[in-house]
Amino acid sequence: MAYVIAEPCIGVKDHSCVEVCPVDCIHPSQDEPDFDQHDQLYIDPAECIDCDACVEACPVDAIFAEDQVPTEWERYIEINAAYYRGG
Ligand code: SF4
Ligand code: SF4
Repeated sequence: MAYVIAEPCIGVKDHSCVEVCPVDCIHPSQDEPDFDQHDQLYIDPAECIDCDACVEACPVDAIFAEDQVPTEWERYIEINAAYYRGG
């Protein structure tokens, strides 16, 4: 399983989750060249260790465990994964 960033992150991108993630699996971060090209951040499903730290850190409740993503945001599971395939 992995954690997933959903719609509430769009336009917020405040970076709180990046700062608490122990395995640095949330991108693009502010110091990466494509940060401005994305309206939200994404979690790498291959690297996330399901530690839950980012959930509490997010001020807009944008992060969910994959099996708890609200139905209307289920497409974000694929949206997060696609970023790491270069999509
Ligand atoms: S659950 Fe933990 S490892 Fe996964 S993205 Fe959040 S902080 Fe990082
Ligand atoms: S803490 Fe929440 S709003 Fe901020 S970048 Fe992470 S997912 Fe987006």
